[in-house]
Amino acid sequence: MNHIVKIISVEPVTHDVKRFTIQKPDGFKFKPGQATEVSINTPALKNEKRPFTFTSLNDNRHLEFTIKIYENHNGITKELGNLKRGDELIIRDVWGAIEYKGEGVFIAGGAGITPFIAILRQLNSENKIANNTLIFTNKTESDIILEKELDEMLGDNFINTLTDEKKSGFENRRIDTDFLKEKITNFSQHFYVCGPPPFVEAISKALSSLGAKTDAVVFEK
Ligand SMILES: Cc1cc2nc3c(=O)[nH]c(=O)nc-3n(C[C@H](O)[C@H](O)[C@H](O)COP(=O)(O)OP(=O)(O)OC[C@H]3O[C@@H](n4cnc5c(N)ncnc54)[C@H](O)[C@@H]3O)c2cc1C
Repeated sequence: MNHIVKIISVEPVTHDVKRFTIQKPDGFKFKPGQATEVSINTPALKNEKRPFTFTSLNDNRHLEFTIKIYENHNGITKELGNLKRGDELIIRDVWGAIEYKGEGVFIAGGAGITPFIAILRQLNSENKIANNTLIFTNKTESDIILEKELDEMLGDNFINTLTDEKKSGFENRRIDTDFLKEKITNFSQHFYVCGPPPFVEAISKALSSLGAKTDAVVFEK
């Protein structure tokens, strides 16, 4: 089912990521981690669908997306980056991208954090975030989506690595088998992985070599 919804606000999250707060249709519900196909409601773009994950919670009055804008793709995210309050989006049925199944380790590359934002916010709101760990990899610190909020929610269980920047307090290497062995002791807990295809492939392979079972979502770029 299609819902036409107005944008209530657009705010910067990082240099290339924006938070879109939008109207919530009556009775609209989703599970944290779920996504929908989004279009911009103009005659030229209304059939161009791209998947995005809800980063709000069901209790919130509005819906929220956290979207990385690719200026150089000349695609839909570039167009989304030009939208403002009052412009309209089309959202559709929700579908499962990734679902929380129990305590474990979340591993995200860049905008692959979005399903985990919803899941972690939900757990935090229920005081159930406890022993969950997040490993988040980005190019530089300026690329980290919601660094402060994630830090507040997870404390010592928030592990950051920067592949293109050396900075104290951050790892400066790719996530591989050695990295995982160093940071994680229990490989029989849940593992949730989300990011671009080569990232998800490499991490899933490393985890499987360590005996872990993984739930993964691929964010095509
Ligand atoms: C289930 C799911 C949930 C998602 N949730 C989110 C989310 O919450 N937030 C988020 O930010 N993203 C999310 N994504 C990723 C998001 O859907 C894509 O980033 C988005 O569809 C890109 O759309 P686009 O039109 O800008 O670019 P594309 O559709 O990727 O490409 C548009 C044009 O750019 C060209 N192009 C492609 N790659 C490159 C490149 N590397 N350099 C130059 N040109 C290129 C292509 O040829 C194409 O013509 C999700 C993806 C999935 C599968």
